[in-house]
Amino acid sequence: MIRLAVANQKGGVGKTTTAINLATALAASGWKVLLIDLDPQGNASTGLGISHSERKLSSYDLLTGEAGIEEAAIPTRVPRLDIVPATVDLSGAEIELVDYEQRTERLNMAVAEAPPGRWDVCLTDCPPSLGLLTINALVASPSLLVPLQCEFFALEGLSQLLQTVERVRERFNPDISIFGVVLTMYDRRNNLSEQVAADVRAVLGKLVFDTVIPRNVRLSEAPSHGLPALIYDYRCPGSEAYMALARETIARLPKAARAA
Ligand code: ADP
Ligand code: MG
Repeated sequence: MIRLAVANQKGGVGKTTTAINLATALAASGWKVLLIDLDPQGNASTGLGISHSERKLSSYDLLTGEAGIEEAAIPTRVPRLDIVPATVDLSGAEIELVDYEQRTERLNMAVAEAPPGRWDVCLTDCPPSLGLLTINALVASPSLLVPLQCEFFALEGLSQLLQTVERVRERFNPDISIFGVVLTMYDRRNNLSEQVAADVRAVLGKLVFDTVIPRNVRLSEAPSHGLPALIYDYRCPGSEAYMALARETIARLPKAARAA
């Protein structure tokens, strides 16, 4: 199973939107996908229409060891897409985990229990902070998919992120690497977007996906209907962009994984 963490310590950059829609696009491409919602806000769960009463088991239970991954994963309305939802308990986990043994390994231990072939790819939607939750995500999924918002502070955020990756590499996981950076909320009519995109590409080169996610109101409306944009309006520019991102993602994966 391929594991990717959708991570950026900044909030509001499009992590959850990317996690939901990339997961849906990969599922639409025939992949069996597991999405782990590791943000206490539970936006990925809500955005996929998982009501609070359906969240009997959650990513919190994975971290505490109360539940296994197969038990905690529930189907979504999207064929081939399962989710381990998040509950508010998770906000306490940052503090509670401190007392656990192997506190940075908890999610990794749970994900390692997934039976071979059950899912082809596991995406983890990270919270916007570098606490124990995100570290658990990065230990379980050393390949980072980083959404970067096309805004004035993008490069600053980027250098902070690269520092974070180095720190995690030294302390927790030598295997960590950036799988790809995806530019989000790109506004064609705004020169700044174009400039930021060019600057980021100059710094990161091939790490940046060719696909750029446009600013598209359909992407922000879809979650209130409990649907991925790809189902809410599969022809909107945002949905098309996430399908293109899925194609690029698949092309970047090792051949062996693609054949699976
Ligand atoms: P994060 O998970 O990084 O905090 P979100 O994915 O929740 O970010 O996005 C933050 C806000 O911006 C949400 O309201 C979301 O609907 C909106 N949003 C995200 N991506 C886009 C986009 N490409 N176009 C328009 N709105 C977007
Ligand atoms: Mg989020």
